[in-house]
Amino acid sequence: MESQQAVIERYFVADSDNSTLATIETNDDGQFELELKEKIALTHDTNKFIFKLPDENQVLGLNVCGHLIFHLPLEDGDSISRKYTPVSQLNERGTVTFVIKTYKKCDEFPNGGKMSQHLESLEVGAKVKMEGPFGLLAYIGFGTFTLKKTKIQKTKIGIIAGGTGITPCFQLVQASTLADDGLQMVMLYSNKSKDDILVKDELDQLSQQNTNNLKLYHTLTRHDDEKHGEWTGLKGRVSAEHIKQCRFPEPSSDTLIVYCGPAAFGKTVEEVLTSLGYTKEMMHKF
Ligand SMILES: Cc1cc2nc3c(=O)[nH]c(=O)nc-3n(C[C@H](O)[C@H](O)[C@H](O)COP(=O)(O)OP(=O)(O)OC[C@H]3O[C@@H](n4cnc5c(N)ncnc54)[C@H](O)[C@@H]3O)c2cc1C
Repeated sequence: MESQQAVIERYFVADSDNSTLATIETNDDGQFELELKEKIALTHDTNKFIFKLPDENQVLGLNVCGHLIFHLPLEDGDSISRKYTPVSQLNERGTVTFVIKTYKKCDEFPNGGKMSQHLESLEVGAKVKMEGPFGLLAYIGFGTFTLKKTKIQKTKIGIIAGGTGITPCFQLVQASTLADDGLQMVMLYSNKSKDDILVKDELDQLSQQNTNNLKLYHTLTRHDDEKHGEWTGLKGRVSAEHIKQCRFPEPSSDTLIVYCGPAAFGKTVEEVLTSLGYTKEMMHKF
């Protein structure tokens, strides 16, 4: 059997000193470029983006739950910046993989999303400006997290994700499950409709692999049985009732609830958790 140290080195700290982020040359703003190696359409509005690392033997060097910032320079000299967390394991060598949903133009949002539409338009070979690593919370295995570089130990984890906010949560679930490190996790993932659920197959696979320690629930906020087909999961926005129904860990010094999603979603989650007695020390927003 692999020692705990070997498991940590494989799933949580993979070769961090010799990683791309530790060694790549950056411009004066700390930015570097990665080349798009492959773009694979997953659904009508979601693509997998595989970027090439400069050295095929290197890992990216991001912690579990960490993110990069992508920068898009605009014609007027300004630029826009958005956060993205890879879905690849941190020991992936030579490439890093993201799953990114395109916020397309629609009646509700006539302009759609700036960065995600730009990314969707990219051809293989295009370069994207990035910066990192970022992220205040990192999971380093066996219940140990670093929060602003201070180690904390938590073994009962609640995870609440909204839409594209799934990826840092997915990183945590993926690493803990593959390492089989015994972290107890309950995850509630909220989306508008079934079609909006990102990395669904991967999540289902992880929950089948980790039946003892991972309980996965979905809620849909705009599901209509007639339009979208039958749905037996939860419905409606994340609520105190959902948290109780999913048997999230009770507030305690051993509990950490992490969450990520659009701003309004984050506000709702914080209100719900506070109403149930979780303190600020028990919550972390990615
Ligand atoms: C830590 C972290 C990690 C993240 N990782 C990922 C990731 O791996 N993959 C990923 O896809 N996203 C991820 N995101 C979200 C990402 O940072 C952007 O917010 C997202 O791509 C939208 O950026 P944009 O410039 O395209 O949209 P913006 O131009 O910023 O649009 C503003 C907002 O308008 C709304 N909007 C616009 N068009 C639509 C539409 N068609 N439907 C619904 N709402 C719309 C959305 O609320 C959107 O956020 C992450 C966010 C965080 C905080």
